[in-house]
Amino acid sequence: MPETPEPALRVALPVPLPRLFDYRPPAGERAGADWIGCRVRVPFGRGEGEQVGVVVAVGPPEAPPDSLKPVLARLDTEALLTGELFESLRWAAGYYHAPLGEVLATALPGPLRGGQELPETARFGWRLTEAGLAAAKGPGREGKPRQLLLALAARALGEDLLDTQIPDWRAAARSLAQRGLAERVALAGRPEPAPVASAPELMRGQADALAAIREGQGFRALLLEGVTGSGKTEVYLQAIADALAAGRQALVLVPEIGLTPQALARFRSRLGVPVLAYHSGLADGERARAWTAMSRGEARVLVGTRSAVFCPLPEAGLIVVDEEHDASYKQQDGIRYHARDLALVRASKLGVPVILGSATPSLESLHNALQGRYRHLRLTQRAGRARPPAVRVLDVRKRPLVNGLSEELLAAVGACLARGEQALVFKNRRGYAPVLICHDCGWSAHCKRCDAAMTVHTGGRRLVCHHCGARATPPNACPDCASLALMPQGAGTERIEQALAERFPEARLVRVDRETTRRRDAIGKILEDFGEHSGILVGTQMLAKGHDLPRLTLVAVVGVDEGLFSADFRAGEKLAQLLIQVAGRAGRAELPGEVVLQTHHPEHPLLNTLLAGGYPAVAALQLAEREAAQFPPYAYLALLRAEAPTEGDMQAFLREARDEFSPREGLWLNGPMPAPMARRAGMARGQLLLGAGQRAPLHAALHDWLPRLQALKSARRVRWSLDVDPTDLY
Ligand code: ADP
Ligand code: ZN
Ligand code: ZN
Repeated sequence: MPETPEPALRVALPVPLPRLFDYRPPAGERAGADWIGCRVRVPFGRGEGEQVGVVVAVGPPEAPPDSLKPVLARLDTEALLTGELFESLRWAAGYYHAPLGEVLATALPGPLRGGQELPETARFGWRLTEAGLAAAKGPGREGKPRQLLLALAARALGEDLLDTQIPDWRAAARSLAQRGLAERVALAGRPEPAPVASAPELMRGQADALAAIREGQGFRALLLEGVTGSGKTEVYLQAIADALAAGRQALVLVPEIGLTPQALARFRSRLGVPVLAYHSGLADGERARAWTAMSRGEARVLVGTRSAVFCPLPEAGLIVVDEEHDASYKQQDGIRYHARDLALVRASKLGVPVILGSATPSLESLHNALQGRYRHLRLTQRAGRARPPAVRVLDVRKRPLVNGLSEELLAAVGACLARGEQALVFKNRRGYAPVLICHDCGWSAHCKRCDAAMTVHTGGRRLVCHHCGARATPPNACPDCASLALMPQGAGTERIEQALAERFPEARLVRVDRETTRRRDAIGKILEDFGEHSGILVGTQMLAKGHDLPRLTLVAVVGVDEGLFSADFRAGEKLAQLLIQVAGRAGRAELPGEVVLQTHHPEHPLLNTLLAGGYPAVAALQLAEREAAQFPPYAYLALLRAEAPTEGDMQAFLREARDEFSPREGLWLNGPMPAPMARRAGMARGQLLLGAGQRAPLHAALHDWLPRLQALKSARRVRWSLDVDPTDLY
């Protein structure tokens, strides 16, 4: 009778293979349930190769026991991944059809993924040395280090407090430490309870929303739809305070651009506990510390961007997803998860409420609310004394545009400056002009490696491809007809800035786009300097949200038109959201706001609906269109993308992939078709789109299909990826 083999450790490794790998425990140890959730270092691949993985099961090995290699080291004595988080990650691996090991690697902060020990989570702070105290009394050069020096002169400050008080204080602290003026010290005891700023009395809608959140027990999803400035954040704050008072933790997800020191300071001052930030700009060690502090229950509130959805919440009380419609919640490479959707899954497994807030909810969430799956809460009025801005459409057909700007728009900006207020000129395109054309033959400058025009930069002295980063010097003469009449066509932020500078030479003028804000939080500094001065901001969607600008009273939108005729089925939804968000910047405080939209299509149904009925009307219109066309949220999609240096390889793979697909009732498969940008960075790109009226058959089909794709020979000559619930079809 064969003996039952010794159980093996079944390990998930961060490799693109959809399986687990079996190992033996080190000599003298036994594989038991206490290994599950622990990280191990294992030999992998040829030679000296090693990987760090997580033991996800203990069971009979698939291969003969003698062939198993032993793990090199067990890295955790207690499970790092347990309970709900572990379950949610397994769920994600199933839902996104991704190897569990890669999902686990995505979820863990870098140092933990790499096998490092859990970091020390004691609180650290900074204090001045004797030399520092002396320096603080004397004169010194203005700047961040000086600011920090003076802040520390009175007493040592915890790092969590510095995070909310002095943006970018870490560089300043390093500089002080190098000069022997300050030192890092472990702080004893609990954080000094910060004074809690008093909450305003809630308005009726806010009070109703809060009551609805407090009602009931366990998991429930609430969609808080509230116009910009209606006091949604105020509702989150009080709901979080409830959770804290009940001894629970809270997680707040914010869009990439919403995690400003201003926002953190508001949370901190109102909640009175340290509020940890979690985002891609943090040093690896900081991320690992925040993650660990949450997992130990030491930290109570975490505010973070997309990847914060993977933080442990052993004592969860509430999850908030602010601006739930925001595109930055969707990861666009690797494991293509959607943080809002994962937040819902986690809340449901945790048995806690999740609040989705937005002025412009995604059609998916609205649909769920209309179906009764989410409780729909509305805030229709701005808080305080702020009134909604007046919106005016500027029909610029047949009117002269100079550098893309109409005289009426310039006049509105001039009037705003004359009142001593601030204007925002919004153009969602950076650079000088979107294309360089030949006036005589129509030639235009294209990227050699992409199906795209090159953008003109630095006043016409440089061409840049926004898709692959290629750069070129513009030709002196047209390569096709030798004409010298080459001209930049259209206008980007750089050109608009220049035109405004010529027209308003006295005005303070600031441009905010990817070029002027390369450093993290550069935008914060720019807006801080801009402050309350009268002047003009020119910028892209980076200015659509984030920092409060109380003296901003005019929002002028240039170039609405590009978004009106896009082939992307989400274009209408995105444009309406963007317009509402930018418009919401005007008149957020006492001063009344005005919005002007400059367009060649004043009669376009989307604009008309938006003006007449606001976002709810546009959303209703778009939902009806989606239903008719069988697009999400009325259908479920998965997109198989492939790219290869040659079009032949790419197509061969997609054709074979199509052949491997077994047709099923209620499922459709479109393609192979070229991607909307058929060539990018020298790669030929194509796709297959799989759709279904129901989620379950779609996933069943993917489950069957993917192993067959992995087995295809042609798959080795392409880069391919699967995107479940794609947010764009590019
Ligand atoms: P949102 O998150 O919807 O954009 P906020 O919560 O940031 O709105 O509120 C907008 C502004 O109105 C903030 O300055 C906030 O302090 C203020 N505010 C919010 N609720 C109230 C209230 N009930 N009474 C007075 N002011 C309020
Ligand atoms: Zn020409
Ligand atoms: Zn390119």
